[in-house]
Amino acid sequence: MKNIYFASARSMDFSYQTSMVAKLERMLKKMDLSRHITKDDYVAIKTHFGSEGGHRIVRPIFLRKVVEAVSSVGGRPFVTDTVRLEGLEYLETANMEGINYLSVGCPVVLADGISGKNYQKMKAGQLLGEVKIASEIFDADAMVVVTHCKGHIQAGYGGAIKNLAMGAVPGNTRSGKSERGRIHSIDTQLSWDEEKCELCGDCVEVCDHDAMTMGDKIEIDHFMCHKCRRCVEVCEQEALHLPIVQDEFQLAMAEAAKAALDTFKPNKVIYINFIMEVMPHCDCHPHSDVPVINDQGIIICDDIVAIDQASLDIIENAGRLPDSKAENLNPKEGLLFGLTGRDPYVHVDHAAKLGMGKKDYQIVDID
Ligand code: SF4
Ligand code: SF4
Repeated sequence: MKNIYFASARSMDFSYQTSMVAKLERMLKKMDLSRHITKDDYVAIKTHFGSEGGHRIVRPIFLRKVVEAVSSVGGRPFVTDTVRLEGLEYLETANMEGINYLSVGCPVVLADGISGKNYQKMKAGQLLGEVKIASEIFDADAMVVVTHCKGHIQAGYGGAIKNLAMGAVPGNTRSGKSERGRIHSIDTQLSWDEEKCELCGDCVEVCDHDAMTMGDKIEIDHFMCHKCRRCVEVCEQEALHLPIVQDEFQLAMAEAAKAALDTFKPNKVIYINFIMEVMPHCDCHPHSDVPVINDQGIIICDDIVAIDQASLDIIENAGRLPDSKAENLNPKEGLLFGLTGRDPYVHVDHAAKLGMGKKDYQIVDID
């Protein structure tokens, strides 16, 4: 059974020591990073840089504490994510979110390069066969996966597995095709219904990947499409369709995350999940809805399955917030299932089946 360190988000005394920042410092000490990081290791601190308009991500102050902890044991940290917008624009997004050298205290780099096309190929499972892994993650000696937990339109939940499955693969292949799109939607593609479309242009505007153009009809560039579903969500006429092959996507996610972890020697990766500001949707959306539960806290562990299992259990057992998307859900249904229509445990179960970790855990409270 895995020990998972947990620090509650409650902070009731007038003292730095009760802050989440101080609690994270204590958790990192308790984890003893020297068991995972040796002197001069290049350490990727993998997080999500967010999006313009979406502000609920892991805040720079927490990233800085992770950077300091990694440096204190002799590691050479860099904060990283893969390209979601054209590379330099995505770095600017990070900067707008407050993630830059000055705030986090180390270089902030795109793991797949400015073009989003720097990667190495890795063997994956039955669904994906092979998957591309961003070069700077492939080449790193160790990694700290820092994740903001939330709902996800296709996976039900976005945690550590999702952070790697989508975030450790490059934005594009050398030929310009979307690698992330291949995982997002195996064997399906976006279609447009001319009869329903009113040519409002909202879908073209919301697409971050220049995969749509509008003249007297909508043209979709399937080569460029990441199958992120933003356009489907924004279309009020329901003129865009991208079938969700629910289980396949979640199974493929677990395969992709495993391929990323297979680039590391054993015992070189740890995970920190922030169960705070849990939104119904992903950090890549161009907005942030209000949280569906109160802030729960931070958990830390060296097992990707245990940490996502524990995070899901904590989220599902939390009280649902009024005036949020959770308010009128059926209380007999799981919270994330109610929000997304997906069973979020599918990919965690599959990750366990692939041998990526254990579902059994025990929570160890950190004061
Ligand atoms: S958002 Fe929908 S209605 Fe508007 S242009 Fe796109 S497909 Fe047509
Ligand atoms: S799913 Fe829609 S918004 Fe997303 S990349 Fe494809 S065309 Fe663009």
